Amino acid sequence: MTGQQLLLESPSSGFRLVSKDLPSPAEGEVLVRITLATLCGSDLHTLAGRRSAPTPCVLGHEAVGVIVASKKEGLTEGQRVTWSLASSCGSCQACKEWNLPQKCARLLKYGHSREDTHPWSGCYASHILLRPGTTILPLPPLLPDRLAAPANCAFATITHATEQLPAPCRRALVIGGGLLGLFAILALRERGVEEIYVSDPDEQRVAMARRCGALPLPQEATELRFDFALEAAGVAAAISPALPLLRPGAHFVWTGLVHDQCHFQLDGSLIVRGNLRVQGIHNYAPRHLEQALRILQTVDTSVLEDLIAAPVPLAHFEQALELAQSGQWARVSVEPNPASPS
Ligand SMILES: [Zn+2]
Ligand SMILES: [Zn+2]
Repeated sequence: MTGQQLLLESPSSGFRLVSKDLPSPAEGEVLVRITLATLCGSDLHTLAGRRSAPTPCVLGHEAVGVIVASKKEGLTEGQRVTWSLASSCGSCQACKEWNLPQKCARLLKYGHSREDTHPWSGCYASHILLRPGTTILPLPPLLPDRLAAPANCAFATITHATEQLPAPCRRALVIGGGLLGLFAILALRERGVEEIYVSDPDEQRVAMARRCGALPLPQEATELRFDFALEAAGVAAAISPALPLLRPGAHFVWTGLVHDQCHFQLDGSLIVRGNLRVQGIHNYAPRHLEQALRILQTVDTSVLEDLIAAPVPLAHFEQALELAQSGQWARVSVEPNPASPS
């Protein structure tokens, strides 16, 4: 049986849809037919040249699919699943001692690996081969594909970023009203944070954040002081202006600074004198994916659903990219060619 994948041969080459024989899973592996993949912001950074990718590569790491063959205990053909965006060894220092399996010494990150050495590891494809050391979770039947797809990158990362809040945490600031910021607002509300403000120069995004229950951060000087702030914009210049808005002992978590334009001026005394805790969050551990699925089932996700564009066939990926660059949608989605074999 053959499947299709969108191959990026070199950083400067365009994509090419190629057909290739599908692999048979080895012990501990699972072959999944991808039903929907969403275009994460980090892929857009890569395609714009702000982030490097090893090539040849099949990009794409936010996706959902159905198992077609399984050699992993407890998982069977026909199950609709999500999976962690990386496989970890479980025995290196990062896995065992640091509690950071996402930084495993032998990490395989789906959608970020060379296709010649790690075949079928990207999600812009009809199928993906999930390796041993990947957390694979059956999905709740009522969770639609378009919400399930971003769970294994965007939503799980935000669940990680909002896991540790200072006590008390009554007022939070979310910087960035894209999909990550909106999910953060919903997650923080679910955690019982009473007042959530959003900061974003885009009025439409602020309107969406309001629908999620957030208030716009006043433009003029504000007396507001925050217990917790989350950077989810990927804009380095947004960090420093937020520091004076934090109360002593506040937590400031950064998630979006993952490209090559992350340098900025910082007055370190604001962090020291404020007893601030600043933390970077990159990716997540398996428990965060489970928690993200739980949150998706308990909050009103209608705003998020409205912001994810109807799927474009994988063969028309250029069209999906144009849609993503239009800024009209928080996420654009692609589905593998409907004629592809299952
Ligand atoms: Zn991502
Ligand atoms: Zn490891």
